[in-house]
Amino acid sequence: MTVAETYRGINHRAVKLRNRSTVFRIVRDVGPIARIDLARQTGLNAATVTNIVEELLAARLVEETGQGTSRVGRRPIFLEVNPSARLTLGLDLARDSITGAIVDLSGRIMERFAEPAGPWLDGAVVLSTVGAMVQRLLATLPAPDRQALVGIGIGAPGRVSFSSGRYLAPPAYGAWDGLALRQEVAARFGLPTYFDNNGNTSTLAELWFGAGQGIANFALLTVGTGVGGGLVLDGDLYHGAHDLAGELGHMSVNLAGPRCACGNYGCLEMYVAVPRVLAAVRAALMSGEPSALRAGARSADRLTLDDVIAAAGAGDDLATRIMADVARHLAAAMTNLFHAFDPELILIGRDLARASDLLLGPVRQEVQRRAMAVMRENFRLEVAALPDAPVIGAATLALREFFRAPLPDRHDIVA
Ligand SMILES: [Zn+2]
Repeated sequence: MTVAETYRGINHRAVKLRNRSTVFRIVRDVGPIARIDLARQTGLNAATVTNIVEELLAARLVEETGQGTSRVGRRPIFLEVNPSARLTLGLDLARDSITGAIVDLSGRIMERFAEPAGPWLDGAVVLSTVGAMVQRLLATLPAPDRQALVGIGIGAPGRVSFSSGRYLAPPAYGAWDGLALRQEVAARFGLPTYFDNNGNTSTLAELWFGAGQGIANFALLTVGTGVGGGLVLDGDLYHGAHDLAGELGHMSVNLAGPRCACGNYGCLEMYVAVPRVLAAVRAALMSGEPSALRAGARSADRLTLDDVIAAAGAGDDLATRIMADVARHLAAAMTNLFHAFDPELILIGRDLARASDLLLGPVRQEVQRRAMAVMRENFRLEVAALPDAPVIGAATLALREFFRAPLPDRHDIVA
């Protein structure tokens, strides 16, 4: 079934927008690409592709390059994205900092700033810090580039309503409850503004620019201070009925486990989040278990995840046992995801991705042992590609909406 056929019957304008964003996405994902291959990959006819390409060229979103090779005759003309044609501004409110960046159409960070921040700040301070950062980023742009800015995207931890642009009772972020971050930023800067959870923004970044490019169904599991992530289903971020989908850290992996702050018992986060891993190491050291980590220069309370990864890599028994335990819990959660959503790929991101040499093999093995026989051979686990995914993804929120709207008339572009 072609894209055109899928959308037959929906109004003409919606079909046109959908086709154009499909063409642009393919140029972005696989360009440089010739028009004929675009027609082949989209299932659209040559005339439609030609019209869409004309529009994209007029808007300077794509450009022609002659870098293809041909055995005989003229060199074919290829199309690729013009990365600087549009820019977007992303803000990521993390647990200990606010990062802001200007990002181009290829996902490249042009400019970035970071400030310490966190749940201890009240809502008004968060707003003024965010405002000052946007101001500072805008000041780095020469006037023509400011015209190219399509919008602002904001990502933050905890529960965020993408549709209302408000914080929803974020755990441990009481002072931010109900904060209408999207409306405040939009009103101050007069730019389209979007707000989402940073598990979702990271997932969006991987979809557009990272390990999820061209993949219609995948899950990202981010493991750092907390555990989160997001789902891409049928080619787009999945928000759920109330914008609360993606709480992957609060899948129970142990019915008899301790109670989590979320109310559930034995949540994944309680076994694999970095503070939990370090606490397990400390408890084992306290109980007298022998380990190279005891002899390390650092005292137990200054132990880092990288110390544990290095010790496990060097064959330390305690560190190896703890990482094997992390792998087992991750595998149980990933089997649940795999059974529920049949994704093409599961990505692991953030801090624990640094332990990929220790984790990927054992997790794959354990999933093979647990998963339904009919699904087993489809399981693919990889490391997420973008260390800056939260801020790039926040910026991508605005790009995603930009490509859903009509392009300005050619007259506007020429003027
Ligand atoms: Zn929980």
